[in-house]
Amino acid sequence: GSDLHGILDFWSEAAPDAEALAEGDRRWTWSGLEDRVARLAAALAGDGMRPGHHFATLDKNAAATVEATFAAARDGHAHVIVNWRLSPREIEYVLADAQARILFVGAEFLPQVEQIRDRLPHLAKIVVVGGDADEYEDYLASAAPVPRSHRPEPDDCVLLLYTSGTTGFPKGAMLTHRSLGAHCVAAAEALGFSHDSVNMVAMPLFHVGGISWALISLWVRARTLIVRDVVPAAVLEQIQRQKVTHAFFVPTVYEYFLATPELDRANLSSLRCLGYGGSSMPLSLMRRCLERFTSDFYQVYGMTEASGVFSVLGPEAHRDPDRIHLLTSAGRPLSGVQVRVASPVTGEEVPRGRSGEFWIRSEQVMAGYWDKPEATAESFRDGWFRTGDAGFVDDDGFLFVRDRLKDMIISGGENIYPAEVERVIAEHPSVAEACVIGVPDPTYVEAVKAVVTVAPDAVVDAAELIAFCRERLAAYKCPKSVEVVQELPRTVTGKVLKRELRKAYSNNPD
Ligand code: AMP
Repeated sequence: GSDLHGILDFWSEAAPDAEALAEGDRRWTWSGLEDRVARLAAALAGDGMRPGHHFATLDKNAAATVEATFAAARDGHAHVIVNWRLSPREIEYVLADAQARILFVGAEFLPQVEQIRDRLPHLAKIVVVGGDADEYEDYLASAAPVPRSHRPEPDDCVLLLYTSGTTGFPKGAMLTHRSLGAHCVAAAEALGFSHDSVNMVAMPLFHVGGISWALISLWVRARTLIVRDVVPAAVLEQIQRQKVTHAFFVPTVYEYFLATPELDRANLSSLRCLGYGGSSMPLSLMRRCLERFTSDFYQVYGMTEASGVFSVLGPEAHRDPDRIHLLTSAGRPLSGVQVRVASPVTGEEVPRGRSGEFWIRSEQVMAGYWDKPEATAESFRDGWFRTGDAGFVDDDGFLFVRDRLKDMIISGGENIYPAEVERVIAEHPSVAEACVIGVPDPTYVEAVKAVVTVAPDAVVDAAELIAFCRERLAAYKCPKSVEVVQELPRTVTGKVLKRELRKAYSNNPD
């Protein structure tokens, strides 16, 4: 299908009273969800939203965010789901870049928005979700649903999800009916989703690992549970009470589960698919998970620009002693996804088994970056999308991700582009130069480290520099440690040798 909202039309006819969505103690049937989405769409139209316009959500995980995505799909709008962990100035950048006209904001994030509201000329309206006032419920109640008038084109943008870039400024990946639909079909098949699945969405909806993970189960008419806060004991309790069959977590969250005393007492027999990914999983952590959880494990390898997962390592490779080497593989491409290993220099395909950059071709791939034609052109070559990840494919077609060409750190499942952090640190008067790298970390897989040189006659205080970053950047992007050096290692052309630095500060040099 090439109409995301079509699934809501379809299931609300076919199974009006079946449960579609749940958040905490609240439940949505398919007809109830359809009615609320129709009201939301009518209210948005009443506020002047037209096809091609953008609106945004800034909130922790909530069913309202899923409703908004369907309202966007219904009437040709694009929904920007903003990372609530960003600092006010980063939120401002995203809302301004996306030209969002209406913002749905969780009550707890209103203070951040008040700080930047005056600097956002496109923003005509703010609707508070939750809290005492709960304007959102009034907003829905005020509108009378009207039949759908807009028929979307397959390549209309539905979701605008921001990913940081090597340039240090975030870019909005335009995910379309076509790309999201192709992802739902392929991922549902590879991960064994069906009508009777119960899908837990605990990862943030502002990432594909959240919103796209939710869309898979909605696509196949399974039940979808939205988890607002990931409190390990509460998540374990919900899995048991709701008989969850499918869930996805990043490695850091598995680390939290293993440290939760309730895990020993939990009966998790309903689980059929435990997904992990978003970064590589340390082997020792994987081994401990395999001991403590009886469920099947699926590793997912994906990215925002691919609308979610594009390669899966299935359960057959997880508990078979003869195939243990596959645990360091990211599995095989989903149906409909072609992978090519290309020389990052010439773009030529390299012989099988040799390393290069992964390029992908699939309907799942985004339409491009919003309002960034150069960045879009740079990411595509002859219809292939360049992932910025490097590795090789073995004789059986398994992908091994071994490196990131795109100089990105993944800490606790969140991506950090060093350029963005370096730019902020360089604003500090005591710093001459800054280089930001990822170093191995037992909890976060990688941790952000800043290596700096000091400006003449100045002194760098690590704690103060970290506090300086905290005022300007999302907390997860700020360095956990700072190292002051005399000079940074460089190539003859003056480029900082990040690889050297990473090696110097890592316990397991590559
Ligand atoms: P994002 O766009 O935030 O989803 O980040 C996508 C990036 O995360 C990919 O390009 C990879 O670098 C990394 N990534 C995601 N899943 C995996 C995985 N299973 N193994 C290794 N790296 C991964």
